Amino acid sequence: IFISFEGIDGSGKSTQAKRLAATLRDLGHEVVHTREPGGSVGAEEIRSLVLEGDPDRWSPESEILLFTAARRDHLEKTITPAIEAGKIVICDRFADSTRMYQGISRGDLRAVVDQLHSLMIGREPDLTVIVDMDPAVGLSRALSRQTSEERFEGFGEDLQTKMRAGFLELAREFPERCEIINGAQDMDAVAADILTVVKARLS
Ligand code: C5P
Repeated sequence: IFISFEGIDGSGKSTQAKRLAATLRDLGHEVVHTREPGGSVGAEEIRSLVLEGDPDRWSPESEILLFTAARRDHLEKTITPAIEAGKIVICDRFADSTRMYQGISRGDLRAVVDQLHSLMIGREPDLTVIVDMDPAVGLSRALSRQTSEERFEGFGEDLQTKMRAGFLELAREFPERCEIINGAQDMDAVAADILTVVKARLS
């Protein structure tokens, strides 16, 4: 089974993805916990190319190509082999992040993202956990732990608001695989809600 985690910056999705991986391992499952952009040697190199340095280095279109190239490598090298070996794959962000960040944040490129996805990726997660979070809270959390040189941290609140609405809209677009989790609860309650939806899919 292939599980992705999505949500705005500071939603807590990365913490929850890590926690779910640990819980499932404790239950005896073999788990591969990975992330995007990145998750394979080549894709991590592309991550640095895109997220570090001058923010205006790439046009939105080139950025879509880079993210898609990274995803393709990640699928070939990490995700598909793990699924074929019967493991649970937990991926922190997947194609839905590109539908949002590259698809709607810098112009209307959603159709391009979708075309490239069907051409080069063609795979969706079995379950997408969308950790829903108030945009202002998410932003202050993301800013307070800002440590890296990565350029995307610190997007403004307007964009956070747009991304949140976009993720909720994606859940309506793909209702069979998406589950919205209330990220405003305390961490244990969020983790418990996630475990409930995951167990339902596993059985
Ligand atoms: O999830 P994580 O915090 O590692 O993502 C790093 C940054 O890359 C985020 O701030 C996110 O806004 C950005 N991003 C993006 N497009 C993607 C994936 C992530 O702009 N497809």
